[in-house]
Amino acid sequence: MYSIAIHGGAGTLPRALMTSSQESAYRAGLAAALDAGYAVLDLGGTSLDAVTAAVRMLEDDPLFNAGRGAVLTHEGTVELDASIMDGRTLAAGAVAGVRHVRNPVDLARAVMEHSPHVMLIGAGAEEFALASGMALVPNDHFLTDTRKAQLGRVLAGDARPANELSALGTVGAVARDRAGNLAAATSTGGMTGKRHGRVGDTPIIGAGTYADNAVCAVSATGHGEYFIRAAVAHDICARVAYSGLTLAAAADAVVLDRLQKMGGEGGIIAIDAQGGVVTSFNSEGMFRGARTSGGTREISIYRD
Ligand code: ASP
Repeated sequence: MYSIAIHGGAGTLPRALMTSSQESAYRAGLAAALDAGYAVLDLGGTSLDAVTAAVRMLEDDPLFNAGRGAVLTHEGTVELDASIMDGRTLAAGAVAGVRHVRNPVDLARAVMEHSPHVMLIGAGAEEFALASGMALVPNDHFLTDTRKAQLGRVLAGDARPANELSALGTVGAVARDRAGNLAAATSTGGMTGKRHGRVGDTPIIGAGTYADNAVCAVSATGHGEYFIRAAVAHDICARVAYSGLTLAAAADAVVLDRLQKMGGEGGIIAIDAQGGVVTSFNSEGMFRGARTSGGTREISIYRD
């Protein structure tokens, strides 16, 4: 079975406050990215191309906290993190703190495919982007009025206003292609009001992203400081590999038990070696979607 799952972050509006037009807009954004990634698989493309295509669309959609529409640092700028992993070879690429790269997932992939390194940060990452032929964009490209207003409220001391999305809105995708290869990718602006230079779990291989053909592929969203210390993505894969747990049981053990006991809010999407999709989150909701060659296609926000 070939399949893809995507997420648009664990920071949803409380259900009671989500209007139907907001919900439709989020669903449409998720559906577009899901179908773009699925089309790659359906045409015989690789899981790496599928996750790249889906994440790129979510980065360009201002509703989600990645690329354009990313949340702002304390200083009012945008600093982006992204990573990608190839489950076939365990090759991985990541970037952190980039300010001028329109699609950070493309840069993470270039690091993986065209450099001897796994992670590049800040100015060095952007020099590598230029050397790879990517056009840089001004930091303003990423700014939206919604995020400026959100930062204003956070700086005024309202850490999580009840009437807006929480800070968690990272995007990600996991896929299994026709050849049985797994891949995962994740991209984010981080958390609203973060200190300049702060890096979360998203670009940390093993925390926000992991893929191993023999086991599973995972992409996470949530409070990065907890996800890094719990090594969430790798821990889920390790529990499957070493204890023989199903992916669903391993994901719930990490997200609903270990992480929750630490105080870490968020969730994951994952795909097992056969293409089965699993999601787990301890937040009120998680923007997500999944589509399989078995004929299922679902977009969801809350638990049901
Ligand atoms: N995990 C991201 C971070 O901590 C935030 C998110 O998932 O929205 O940078």
